[in-house]
Amino acid sequence: MCIFGPVPSRRLGSSLGINNIPYKICTYTCAYCQIGPTLRLELERKRYSDPEKIASSVKKRLLCLAEKGEKVDYITLVPDGEPTLDTALGELLTELRKTSIPVAVITNSSLIWESQVREALMLADWVSLKIDAISEDVWRSVDRPHPALKHDEILEGMKILAADFTGKLCTETMLVRDLNDVPEELEKIADFISNYLNPYTAYISVPTRPPAASWVLPPKEEAVTAAYAIYKKKGLTVETLTGYEGNEFVITDNPAEEILNITAVHPMRSDAIEEVLRRWEADEQIIEDLVDEGKIKRVEYEGNIYYLRVMGDQKEKKGALADGIGSQPRCDR
Ligand code: SF4
Repeated sequence: MCIFGPVPSRRLGSSLGINNIPYKICTYTCAYCQIGPTLRLELERKRYSDPEKIASSVKKRLLCLAEKGEKVDYITLVPDGEPTLDTALGELLTELRKTSIPVAVITNSSLIWESQVREALMLADWVSLKIDAISEDVWRSVDRPHPALKHDEILEGMKILAADFTGKLCTETMLVRDLNDVPEELEKIADFISNYLNPYTAYISVPTRPPAASWVLPPKEEAVTAAYAIYKKKGLTVETLTGYEGNEFVITDNPAEEILNITAVHPMRSDAIEEVLRRWEADEQIIEDLVDEGKIKRVEYEGNIYYLRVMGDQKEKKGALADGIGSQPRCDR
C-alpha cells in the first residue's frame, strides 16, 4: 500500500499513483500483465485501505511536491491489483477529491456488475474501463478471469455505469497478437463501446513492457492501424497508446524506497531510472544495490532493459499459477 510518483502517464499527464490493494490481489490474471504474478485470484471485496491515512499522506506529498515546483495533473488509483476489490474505494475517492486535484481510477471492470462498485466509481472524475474482448472465449484467453466471473454481467454493468457517469469515462483495449487483434473481435468491441459506452476517448494499447505470459506478442503495426480504423468507423474518439510514456518520474526524499514503490506498479526503463537519479543528484549505485539485494530485477523486452520490483511472495510463489500467469505488462499504469 503506497503513494508513488508522480509518474508520466500517457493519458493523464503527471499522475500521482495510489496503490490501495496489497501486492497482486486481482480478479484477473491477464496474459499481458506487467507487474508480476497474480498471487491471489480474488472476487471477494474487502476493506483494504485506510482512506483518511492515505489522504493525509497524499496531502503531505502534494505539499512537498509543490515546494519542489512539481505539478500533479491527476491522483490515480492504479494499484498492483484491482482497485475495486477495496470496499473503502468510495470513501477513499471522497477523501482524495478534497485535495481539489482530479481523481482517476483505472479498473479492469470485472466487478462493475455490483451496484456498490458502480456507486463508488461514480465519485471519480475520470474512470478507465478495460474492455479487451466481447467474445467469451477471447476474454478468457486474454484476461484469464476468476472462473466465477460472468462476462455478460460485466458488460451489462459497464452499460449502466456509462449511462449514469458524469465524469470523463474512457475505455482501454489492450491488443495481443492473434487473440483480440483480429478484425472480427475488434468490430464487436468497437460496436459495444460505440453503442453503449460513448466514452470521452477509447484507447487502444499494446504491451510495451515485459508481459506476464512469455507467449504474448504485441500486435503487428497493421493490426493496430486496422483497429484504429475500425474504432474510427464506429464514430469513436480513439487514441493509440503504443509509445513509451517518457522519463518524467518524480522522486523526493528517499530515492531507493521510491524506486521500489514505483517499480512495484510501473516497471521503469533503465534510461528513466538513470535520468531520475541524475535529476535528483542521487547515487546511481542505488540501482546496483537494489538488484544485488534481490529487491528489483532487470528484464529485457523489445530491446530495452526494464527494472521490476521483486516481491518476497513473488519469489516464493512463482510457478504456482501455471503458464507464466502473472510474470508482467498490464493496463496503462
Ligand atoms: S493487467 Fe490489471 S487486471 Fe490484468 S492481471 Fe494485471 S493488474 Fe489485474
